[in-house]
Amino acid sequence: VFQLSVPLNFLGSVYRELRQSLLDMETLFNLQKVNVAIKEKKDAKPLQLTKGGEIRFENVTFGYYENRPILRNLTVTIPAGKKVAVVGPSGCGKSTLLRLLFRSYDVQQGRIFVDDQDLRDVTLQSLRKSIGVVPQDTPLFNDTVEHNIRYGNLDAPIEEVHAAARRAHIHEGIVSWPHGYQTKVGERGLMISGGEKQRLAVSRLILKDPPLLFFDEATSALDTHTEQALMANINEILRDKARTSVFVAHRLRTIYDADLIIVLREGTVVETGTHRELMDRAGLYAELWTAQEMSMNEDGEIVTEAKPK
Ligand code: ATP
Repeated sequence: VFQLSVPLNFLGSVYRELRQSLLDMETLFNLQKVNVAIKEKKDAKPLQLTKGGEIRFENVTFGYYENRPILRNLTVTIPAGKKVAVVGPSGCGKSTLLRLLFRSYDVQQGRIFVDDQDLRDVTLQSLRKSIGVVPQDTPLFNDTVEHNIRYGNLDAPIEEVHAAARRAHIHEGIVSWPHGYQTKVGERGLMISGGEKQRLAVSRLILKDPPLLFFDEATSALDTHTEQALMANINEILRDKARTSVFVAHRLRTIYDADLIIVLREGTVVETGTHRELMDRAGLYAELWTAQEMSMNEDGEIVTEAKPK
């Protein structure tokens, strides 16, 4: 028994680590999309957020297949502690940008820096620990609600789990489920809606509290009212902590208050600015905005798909 207890303890912590990194991998954007070719340098150093999380893309070219670039010579700076939105027509490379930041893939040309450190020079663990992602479709584990939220921070006391759920507007819902926080969700558990899943993902993120936050169409499954309430809470959290956050958004109304809006078309930056500046410019953003406003019903929901040129 004595001989076994040490290795078992050790295995316990390995299991924890493994669970956490599996979560990170899944949270990211599903397992198939992880490129196993990503290698850490032998002398890789932990990422140091010395400037508060400034992200810089320098002449970045990337494609999933050779000779089919998705991002082309892209240069842009995402300032530290600001709320930044990446918008543009479907397929222009918005989600790809986030995947490169997470280092699910490496750039083919150019460089990406976080606080002046090339992503390829820092350890993968330190990079991914610094990033929290709310993806389009949140994977849920076949486990209790409590565990599903706690994956964001395995050691968090239950009060913090509840507080995170409250801020994500899901606590009331959870306590009304058959077994409250002990309700099983996921594959064989309670079927929950896309909106509830997204709110669980936001709870996880609040609990993890990483310095860099990525939202990939994170509120797209919510109705307008819930979306606005959740966005208000996310904004409050961002303001309190001055986190660098990047929102990939289709519905422009969710991001019009961003400090900086980056407009992509066919893998390059065509415009940057605030909502006001971009509207005055009367370019692609203004065109997308007008198209969406025209296709909305009185609840602010897009009823016909905006089709930019
Ligand atoms: P949307 O607004 O529709 O979500 P997006 O701007 O986020 O689009 P991406 O998801 O970055 O666009 O995709 C850009 C292009 O890369 C698309 O043509 C897409 O088909 C392609 N693509 C995305 N993921 C992969 C992948 N894993 N393998 C191959 N091609 C991919």
